[in-house]
Amino acid sequence: MMNKNTDKVEQALDKAQAECGRSGLRLTDKRCNVLKILLQAGEPLSAYDLADRYRDEVGKSLSAMSAYRMLDFLQQAGLVHKLETTNQYVACSHIACEHEHQVPQFLICDRCHTVQEVGLRKQLLNELKASIENTGFMLASQQLELHGVCEQCRLQD
Ligand SMILES: [Zn+2]
Ligand SMILES: [Zn+2]
Ligand SMILES: [Zn+2]
Repeated sequence: MMNKNTDKVEQALDKAQAECGRSGLRLTDKRCNVLKILLQAGEPLSAYDLADRYRDEVGKSLSAMSAYRMLDFLQQAGLVHKLETTNQYVACSHIACEHEHQVPQFLICDRCHTVQEVGLRKQLLNELKASIENTGFMLASQQLELHGVCEQCRLQD
């Protein structure tokens, strides 16, 4: 179990390294460590949580300011997503995937705080966008964050 997860993290990191190289982005050791922490966490972290874990795991301090800067970079590179409703960050679940990344939708469990990333079909998204824009509202982002209770937590009821 533990090993399997470690493999998955390593695989995602290798892929991220290769992708960044192709796009001319520099995934420095620091940035790579930040991504690794998010991948290992398996749950969303705030920039402050991240700085704490960075200190514990890497053994060096990381200011909240640099945590934000690095998260920003990883977000631009498409490796990390920001959850606007909770102000937290989560590693993309599709880093190691070959398929095209869809507009992400996040299912956020309000009990255990795990997040599931699911892709939304383009057509559905366009319909949603059209019906919203019919009201004269301008969407800033197409990312959806839905709050509720995950299957694991529901099974514990
Ligand atoms: Zn993603
Ligand atoms: Zn995927
Ligand atoms: Zn849950």
